[in-house]
Amino acid sequence: MLSVKDLVVNYGAIQAIKKVSFEIHTGEIVTLIGANGAGKSTILHTISGIMRPVSGQVTYLDRQIQKVSAPKIVQAGISQVPEGRHIFPGLSVQENLQMGAFLRKDRRNIAQAYEDVYNYFPVLKQRRHQDAATLSGGEQQMLAMGRALMAAPKLMLLDEPSMGLAPIFINEIFDIIRAINAAGTTVLLIEQNANKALSIANRGYVLASGEIKLSGTGQELLANTAVQKAYLGG
Ligand code: ATP
Repeated sequence: MLSVKDLVVNYGAIQAIKKVSFEIHTGEIVTLIGANGAGKSTILHTISGIMRPVSGQVTYLDRQIQKVSAPKIVQAGISQVPEGRHIFPGLSVQENLQMGAFLRKDRRNIAQAYEDVYNYFPVLKQRRHQDAATLSGGEQQMLAMGRALMAAPKLMLLDEPSMGLAPIFINEIFDIIRAINAAGTTVLLIEQNANKALSIANRGYVLASGEIKLSGTGQELLANTAVQKAYLGG
C-alpha cells in the first residue's frame, strides 16, 4: 500500500532522515519504534505531506506522493493523528469530529462515520456537546483518533498515541487501534512504548539517528536481545 524509498529529510543543515526505506502492506499494523529524536515524527510528516523530502520517494497505491499537498493526501485516504492530539479547543467534541470530515466529497456517508466513531468511543457520544478542551488526556486522544477516522482513511498514521496517558487508557487505545485495523484500516504506528506497539504490530522497524537499524515481525523484535536492551528495559 505504501512504500518509502531512500527517503532523506533535512531541517536546514541537520539531516534528520538518512535514506530510509520501508513498506506497509494493505491490512497491516506496522510500527516504527525508536528513542526521542530518532526521526519518527519527521517520517510521518513527510508521508502526510507536511514536510518535503530532499530526495527519495513515497509511493501510495502506485502513485508517488512526495510532492502532493497535505489536503490532497488526506483526500487520497491517509489521515494523521498528531503527537499531542491537537484537538480544537473552543469547539465541541462533535464539531472537532466534523472538522475531520471537512475534505470529504461523499457528504451523505458522514452520518454513518459519526456512528462508527461513537461506536469505537462511546464516551465521545456522551460528551459530544461538551467543549473538547474539557476532556481528559485519554479522551482527547480518542477524539484525535475519531477526527482522523471521519476522513475515512485507508491508512491511518498514529504519532505516539500512548504518550502521557494512564495505563488504563493506554490499554484501551491499543485495543481500539486493533479494532480499527480489523475493520479494514491499515495502520502505521509510531511509539516510544515499544513493548505495546510491537505486541499489536504485524511488523516493525527500529529507527535510530534517522536510519532503520532493524526490522522484523512484532514477535521477532520483541524477542530480539538488542531491542530488549535498548527499548524494552530488558
Ligand atoms: P520525538 O519522539 O521526540 O518526536 P522523533 O523520533 O519523532 O522524536 P523527530 O521529531 O522526527 O524525532 O526528530 C528527528 C531529528 O530532527 C531530531 O534530531 C530533532 O532534533 C530534529 N528536529 C526535529 N524537528 C526539528 C526542527 N523543527 N528544527 C530542527 N531540527 C528538528
